[in-house]
Amino acid sequence: MTKQLLNYVNGAWCRSGAGEHLDIMNPATAEVIAALPLSPAAEVDAAVRAAADAFREWRQTPAVERVQYLFKLKHVLEEHLDDLARTITNECGKTYAESVGELRRGIENVEVACGIPILMQGSYSEDIARGIDEMLVRQPVGVVAAITPFNFPGMIPLWFLPYAIACGNPFILKPSEKTPMTAQKIFEIIEQTRLPNGVVNLVNGAKETVDALLDHPDVRAISFVGSTPVAKYIYGRAAANGKRAQCQGGAKNPLIVLPDADLENVTRLAAESAFGCAGQRCLASSLAITVGEARQAFTEAMAEVAASRRIGYGLDEGVEMGPVIRAESKARIEQLIQQGVEEGAKLVVDGRSTRLPSYEKGYFLKPTILADVPANGQIAGTEIFGPVLGLMHVDDIDAAIALVNRHRYGNMACLFTRSGAAARQFRYQAQVGNIGINVGVAAPMAFFPFCGWKDSFFGDLHGQGRDAVEFYTEKKVVVERWL
Ligand code: NAD
Repeated sequence: MTKQLLNYVNGAWCRSGAGEHLDIMNPATAEVIAALPLSPAAEVDAAVRAAADAFREWRQTPAVERVQYLFKLKHVLEEHLDDLARTITNECGKTYAESVGELRRGIENVEVACGIPILMQGSYSEDIARGIDEMLVRQPVGVVAAITPFNFPGMIPLWFLPYAIACGNPFILKPSEKTPMTAQKIFEIIEQTRLPNGVVNLVNGAKETVDALLDHPDVRAISFVGSTPVAKYIYGRAAANGKRAQCQGGAKNPLIVLPDADLENVTRLAAESAFGCAGQRCLASSLAITVGEARQAFTEAMAEVAASRRIGYGLDEGVEMGPVIRAESKARIEQLIQQGVEEGAKLVVDGRSTRLPSYEKGYFLKPTILADVPANGQIAGTEIFGPVLGLMHVDDIDAAIALVNRHRYGNMACLFTRSGAAARQFRYQAQVGNIGINVGVAAPMAFFPFCGWKDSFFGDLHGQGRDAVEFYTEKKVVVERWL
C-alpha cells in the first residue's frame, strides 16, 4: 500500500479527509513512493485555529526561551541529516551531495534565528521633549503561513519557520505537492524539540489548500517561493485580503564572461551553476554572455564539461546530476530546446532523448548547450528550469550589462573577470538582487536577505536575516510621560 502523507496540526499527526490524492514519484525511477492528500479548506481552518490558540501563550514566552527550541532543532536536524538528504534525493532527484548542501543552508537559518533576542530588539530615546521618552518595540504579527516550491524541500521551509516562530508567531507550512516528504520528516524532527502544540503546523495540498490560507482572516502574513505567475497571484490575493506578503518568483540568470576571466575557473563554476540540481534552481545560470575574445574558448570548454557530466540516480556513487522532477517537465524542456533551434539557435550539445539503462523510466536529460541564442527568443527569455545553457555574444561589457538589465527577471547575475573596474561597473549597474563576481551561484548567507528584483520578487521584505525579522514583526512606538 502506498504511504499516505499526514498533516500535523496542534501537535498531532492527522490523516486528511481529502477526497483526492496525488502520487509522489521518485523522479529517477518513476516509482510511486507516497500519496499526498489535497487538504480541503476545513482542514486549513483547523490548522489556523490551532495556531491562533497557540499564539496567546507563545507570544508571551520570552524570546530567549523561544530560541531554546531552535538550539534543539539545529541539533536534531544535524542528527538526521543523512536520512533527510536521502529523502530529498528520492523525491526531488538531486544528488546526495546537493541534498546535504541545501540542508546545510537551511540549518544556517536556524542558527541565525537563534539570535532573535538581539535581532528583535527595539530602541529607546530619552527626552524626545522635556520629560517625555519614546520607545519602539517589536511584536509578533500572529498566525503566519509559508507556501514552498518543489526544488528545495529541505532548505526553503527553513528560510521561514525559524524566524517566524522565534519572533513569536505560530507557523503553518504548505509544502510543494511534488516534494512533500521532506517536510513530513522535518516535522517529525521538530516534534523531538517538544515545541508547544500549535506553534508549528503542516497542511498538505495544492491550489485549494493555498487559497484557503490566502483567504483565511486569521492568517496575517504569507511567505511564498515558487514560479513568477503563481508569485504574482499569491501576492495579489494576499494583499487584497490585507495580509503581509513576501513572494519570491522565478528567474533567468545571466553569467557574463569577460576575455580576461580564468577559463578553467569560469568553466567549472558555470557548469556547476547551469547544470547543478539539473538546472532546477532559481539561482541557476541559464544564459552565458561572452564578451569579445572570450567566445570561442568558453564555448569549447563548456561543450566538453557538459558532454562529460555523469547523470544518474542521486544516491549512486559518482553521479553529478540527477533527473528533472516530472515526465511533463522533461517533455517541456525538450520542446523548448526544439523551439530554440527553430528560432535559429545552434545546438552545441544536445541532451534530449536521454535514457539510462538502469533507470529506463527516470526523467533524465543530459546537459544541453545552445549557441547564438536570439535575444528575443524562448531560450533567452523563458525560465526553462532544466539543464540547458543558452549562449549569447556581445562586443563589450556595456552591451552585456544592457542584456542583463532588459530582462524581466532580476534574481541573479554573475560576472567573471580579473578586472576590479569591470567588477565595480557590473555590481553598480546590474539591476538584479543577487550579484556574483567570479562566483556562479550567488546564494546569500542566512544573515543577508535573499534579494530578488523585478519579476523575481513581489513584496517589500525579503526572506532571511534582518528582513525576516522585519517581516514577522509589527513595530509599535510608545511615547510616554510620567508625572
Ligand atoms: P510553483 O509556482 O508551481 O509552486 C510553488 C507553490 O505554489 C507550491 O506549493 C504549489 O502548491 C503552489 N501553487 C502552484 N500553483 C498554484 C496556484 N495556481 N494557486 C495557488 N498555489 C499554487 O513552483 P515550483 O514548480 O514548485 O518551483 C519552481 C519555481 O520556483 C521556479 O520558477 C523557481 O525559479 C522558483 N523558485 C524561486 C526561488 C527564489 O528564491 N526566487 C527559489 C526556489 C524556487
